[in-house]
Amino acid sequence: MKRIYLDHAATTAVDREVVQTMLPYFTETYGNASSLHSFGRDARNALNASRQTVADALGAQANEIIFTSGGTESDNLALKGVGKGHIITSSIEHPAILSTCRYLEDHGREVTYVPVDSDGMVDPVDVESAITDDTTLISVMHANNEIGTIQPVSEIGSIAKDHGILFHTDAVQSFGKTEINVRKMNIDLLSVSSHKIYGPKGVGALYIRKGVEIEPLMHGGGHEMGMRASTENIPGIVGFAKAASLAVERFEQDTRHLTGLKDMLIAGVMDSIDDVTLNGHPTERLPNNANLRFAFVEGESLLLHLDMKGIAVSTGSACSSASLDPSHVLLALGIAPEDIHGSIRFTLGRGNTESEIRYVLEVLPEIVGKLRAISPLAGG
Ligand SMILES: *Cc1c(COP(=O)(O)O)cnc(C)c1O
Repeated sequence: MKRIYLDHAATTAVDREVVQTMLPYFTETYGNASSLHSFGRDARNALNASRQTVADALGAQANEIIFTSGGTESDNLALKGVGKGHIITSSIEHPAILSTCRYLEDHGREVTYVPVDSDGMVDPVDVESAITDDTTLISVMHANNEIGTIQPVSEIGSIAKDHGILFHTDAVQSFGKTEINVRKMNIDLLSVSSHKIYGPKGVGALYIRKGVEIEPLMHGGGHEMGMRASTENIPGIVGFAKAASLAVERFEQDTRHLTGLKDMLIAGVMDSIDDVTLNGHPTERLPNNANLRFAFVEGESLLLHLDMKGIAVSTGSACSSASLDPSHVLLALGIAPEDIHGSIRFTLGRGNTESEIRYVLEVLPEIVGKLRAISPLAGG
C-alpha cells in the first residue's frame, strides 16, 4: 500500500541532500571540535560554517547561535536561563514551554498565561497588561504546532523592548515556513529545531541576542561559548545547517507548493463533507497546516481509519497524543471538549503531491460517513 505522510508538524524525513552532506562527518571529519590538531580544526571549521548558516537564516550573528539537542532543550535553556522574575507566556504553548513553566512555578516563580481568541491569536494588549515590576521574560510562540496560528511576535517583541523585558519565541514550527528576522522582530531569544525542517533529529539551536545574559543548563567543558557543555554533534549540526540553507533557498517554492495543497485540502473537505470547521486562524496560519474539526466523529477513530488507508495524520500534537485529554490548545480556543475530539491535524510537507491530496479527498468522505452512521452523537 502506498503511504501518505501528512504529519510534518510532528517530524519530517531527512532530505537526501542533507544526509549526503552529513555522511563524511561520521567517518572522515570525525574530530572533536575542541582538539588543536588538524582533525579538530576540520570539525571546528564545519561547526563555525554551520553556525554562520543558521545565523544567516535568522538574521542573526554567528556568535548569537548556541547549538542544542533540539527545540525542547532550547526552550528550557531560554526559560530556565533567565534565572529570576515573573514570566508571561500564552495558554497554547508547546509542552516544552508549558511544562517548563509549571516546573518553574513549583520552584517559586510566578507565571502568567495570557489567553487566546477563538482563532488562537494572542492579543499584544493582554501581554502588555500582564507586565509587572517583577516581569523579566515574555515567551510567546511564533506559530502554533497544532493549529498553525501565527502570533504577532514583532508587536509583542516591541512591547517587551519598551519595558526592558526579554522576549523569547519558540519558532520551531515557523522556521523555514515564515520569514524570520530576529532584529526586525525585536526577538532576544528564539528556539529552532532541525527535525521539523528536513534535518536530523536531536539537534536544534537557541538564538541569544548579543548582550543577553543566560545561565547555562549544562556544565562541563566550555563548549558553545560556555552556554552548552558537551562535545558538539558535528554531523547533526552540519545536517541542521544544510537543512536550514535548503529551507531558505526553497522558501518561495515551498510556500507556494504547501499553500496550494493546503487550500486544495481544506476546500475539498468543506465541499464534500458537512459540519466541518477549520480550527485556528483563517489567514494568519502556517502554509502547511489544516486542522479540521469533524462534528459527530471521534478523531482517534478517524485517525485509525485513515491509517488503515495508509494516510498518516494527527489528533493534536505528537507530544500529547498518548493521552486522550482534550488538547489544551483547542480548549483555549473555547471549543467544547466534546467537539474537540473530532479534530484532525493535517500538516503537509515538501514531498506531498496533488495526487496524494486527491486520494485523501477520495477516501475521507466515506470514512466520515461511516463513523457518523454509527455515532450516537450524530442523532441519525
Ligand atoms: C517539535 C516542537 C518542539 C520540540 O522540538 P524537539 O526538537 O522535538 O525537542 C518545541 N516546540 C514546538 C512548537 C514544536 O513543534
